[in-house]
Amino acid sequence: METQLPLVLITDQIHGVVIDLIYAGPRNFTGQVLYDNALCFLHPQAEACLRKAITAARGFGVQLKIFDAFRPQEAQEALWAFSPNPAYIADPAKGSNHTRGVALDLTLIGPDGQVLDMGTPVDTMTAASHHFHVALPAAVQVNRMVLLTLMLEAGFVHHPNEWWHYQLPDAHQFPLIDSQASMTCVPAGIQPIIDSP
Ligand SMILES: [Zn+2]
Repeated sequence: METQLPLVLITDQIHGVVIDLIYAGPRNFTGQVLYDNALCFLHPQAEACLRKAITAARGFGVQLKIFDAFRPQEAQEALWAFSPNPAYIADPAKGSNHTRGVALDLTLIGPDGQVLDMGTPVDTMTAASHHFHVALPAAVQVNRMVLLTLMLEAGFVHHPNEWWHYQLPDAHQFPLIDSQASMTCVPAGIQPIIDSP
C-alpha cells in the first residue's frame, strides 16, 4: 500500500497563480461556505504538473486562476447533498478526485488582467459547460482550447462536462485523503517559480 504523501500548499506567491477558492466563501452554487480555511492544496504529483502548466501559460501571455483543488470529504458531502447529480458532482460514497488531491478547477486570466470568457461561470451544470459545445462563440472555444492545451501538455486530463476541471490520469487510483492531512502540508522547501520583481 502506498504511503500517503502529504499535500503541497499552492500559493499566489510561490506559484505565481491567482487563488480564489469559491467554496471558502458563499460565492458558489450552494451559496454556502464549505471550507473552514481558504488554503489550496494538491498532491505532489499534481503540483508538479501544475508547475508545467503555469510555466507554459506564460508563453501564451495568460495566468492560471484556481477555484478549487483538494476538497475535504465533508465538503464533497455538502456538495452532493445540495446537488446529487453524478454528471457534475462525484458521489462522496465513491470519493471525489478532488478529495484525492489530484484534481483542480481553474480558468485563465488574460494579459489585461481580466478573466477570459469561457462561456459560463465555473460550476454551471448545463450543456454549455461541456467541451466543444457547438452553440458557443468561436472566441470562447479558443479560450477553452488554450486552457485545454496547457493542461493536457502539463500531464492532466480533462472532464468532458466541465471546462474548468482537470485531474491526473487514473485519478481514482490515488487514495482518498483525510481532511486532517491538510494540516501536514509541506510548504517549506518548495521553490518559488514566479519571476523576480
Ligand atoms: Zn473539479
